[in-house]
Amino acid sequence: MNLTDRRIIAATRNEHKIREMEAITGQFGMKIISRDDAGVPDVEIVEDGATFEENSYKKAYGIMELTGEITIADDSGIEADYLDGAPGIYSARFAAMDSEDDPEADSDDSENNKKLMRLLQGVPYEKRTGRFVSVITMVFPNGDCITARGTVEGHILLEERGDGGFGYDPMFVPEGYDKTFGELPAELKNRISHRANALAALRDKLEKYLEENS
Ligand code: IMP
Repeated sequence: MNLTDRRIIAATRNEHKIREMEAITGQFGMKIISRDDAGVPDVEIVEDGATFEENSYKKAYGIMELTGEITIADDSGIEADYLDGAPGIYSARFAAMDSEDDPEADSDDSENNKKLMRLLQGVPYEKRTGRFVSVITMVFPNGDCITARGTVEGHILLEERGDGGFGYDPMFVPEGYDKTFGELPAELKNRISHRANALAALRDKLEKYLEENS
């Protein structure tokens, strides 16, 4: 099987994630297209798993079942050590979880960031450690599945800096740098991020899988 001439459907609607996945996988010759561009029906995949791995698999498998094509999904989030790993798998709906209207709905990025800053108020910088986590799952039409996890360690700020990236980027300073992912160039983020690390690990596993199955 040669993947370079097969399209791979991304099970996400998040434009930022798709752009990053395209930029990273393009370097190793994979062609990713968004579920909207692939004409996937507008269905909601319920992310009710207990781990990034479960939710990532649910998304990839759910879209693969609809299209019959190779599908890739990213489930990701930020973990603050001081908060025992929160918001973790609840990163997208962190602020909305407090709401009585729809606690399952995704929240505005800036509301999520404010909540994280509020919970870390007064905590010294050296204790505001954490990481971004990305779990990427690729599901094939025959049901075979490959999963890879990537992380990037860093510190969480009590303010937002920079307007690049998305989500928690403006408040996250990756280890070894003194700027946030909101301030650092996208090319740099795409080299060192949790998503870049997960996709690099996926590529290694995929090469083995393709060798064994060709
Ligand atoms: P998901 O779509 O359920 O995987 O939710 C991921 C959430 O985690 C997003 O809404 C963002 O808030 C956060 N997140 C994941 N990756 C990143 C990133 O690269 N930068 C900033 N925030 C991220």
